[in-house]
Amino acid sequence: MTVFDSMEEGGHEQVAWCHDERSGLRAIVALHSTTLGPALGGVRMRAYADERHALADVLRLARGMTYKAAVAGLDLGGGKAVILDQPSPTDRRSRLRAYGRFVHGLAGRYITAEDVGTTQADMDLIRQETPHVTGVSVALGGSGDPSPFTALGVAHAMGSLAQACWGHSSLEGRHVVVVGVGKVGGALVAELVAVGARVSVADVDPAKVRSAAELHGARPLPVEDALAEPCDILAPCALGGVLDERVIARLACLAVCGSANNQLAGPNDGRRLADAGVLYVPDYVASAGGIINIAGELAPGGYDRDRAVARVGAVGSTTAEVLARARAGGITPVEAADRMAEARIAGGHRAEEPVARPTLSTTEPVAEVAPTGTGAWLRGWN
Ligand code: NAD
Repeated sequence: MTVFDSMEEGGHEQVAWCHDERSGLRAIVALHSTTLGPALGGVRMRAYADERHALADVLRLARGMTYKAAVAGLDLGGGKAVILDQPSPTDRRSRLRAYGRFVHGLAGRYITAEDVGTTQADMDLIRQETPHVTGVSVALGGSGDPSPFTALGVAHAMGSLAQACWGHSSLEGRHVVVVGVGKVGGALVAELVAVGARVSVADVDPAKVRSAAELHGARPLPVEDALAEPCDILAPCALGGVLDERVIARLACLAVCGSANNQLAGPNDGRRLADAGVLYVPDYVASAGGIINIAGELAPGGYDRDRAVARVGAVGSTTAEVLARARAGGITPVEAADRMAEARIAGGHRAEEPVARPTLSTTEPVAEVAPTGTGAWLRGWN
């Protein structure tokens, strides 16, 4: 299959291959859609087996971002970038700067952000080359690490899921298994424990499991058993592709709701979950808290943390709408969410508040705002 074949199949607008001889940077930027606004999505840094795998990953992730922004009601399109290879610390800096220059060359059609393998410090570095980057540190006028907001959104989604499953939104006493206790999973554990859920955790990194157990009293599980652990809600918060035919057959949960992008291994797995009696909150619906927060950096007037926290609450109402439409239409939640996103994109329907294009003059530090109305874990963030 040629690159054009792949783009036509996925409906992608543009793919930019970036090579910088001096730093050794090899990166691919994929813009899936700019119908609703500039394409926003993170940059993933990974040692891919080869460039075919990198291309497949970036195309899939970019498309997911279009759907995530559309269903979250944001005036943003979908894009993503991958940096191939795992460079040394010195090469890393020069490659990220070179990457920033490529992003700048896209003139705001693509806005980059943090993703697996990149950090807030990396975004600050990229900021030296382009204003088209979000998730930079608060001192640079940004909103910082989006992960706690993603976790908050997942918790809101779980509340709506609980309402749909058990008739009330409380998670008190519910058993939740969190697989992957990194930046999002770790914050999610804290949030769930704060509202009285029973939490079990698994991670390939034993230090992360120890930390969740010591800080929050979470129960450790072996990674190989975690997905099949009997529980109310399974929360995949590591990498994608975890829900395939074999895993779905072993699931012992009532529902799945987590942050990992592209949790379904293939197009039939949403139907497989429904047939197995597992209620699934589509990943791009549950994990929108981070992008909702980041979009606040592009709003006229700049980022306001209280406003961002309030807006992340929309993840709960979107989840409720997706589940209600699925039930009413006799379709899976994946189909319901896809239809909602596609209807918005087809209509080219923007919300009222326009997204401001960032400029290089937005580097003024912003004042700290005390968070309100969130879980205890968000206090003290940044
Ligand atoms: P992270 O790298 O901080 O955490 C991932 C964790 O998963 C790590 O602790 C890692 O050790 C663990 N892990 C990796 N493979 C595993 C496996 N096979 N089994 C169990 N644990 C495993 O990443 P993150 O920022 O917390 O993101 C987690 C997921 O959520 C990713 O899929 C990411 O794309 C998605 N996501 C993140 C955000 C965000 O704001 N950070 C937003 C939307 C979606």
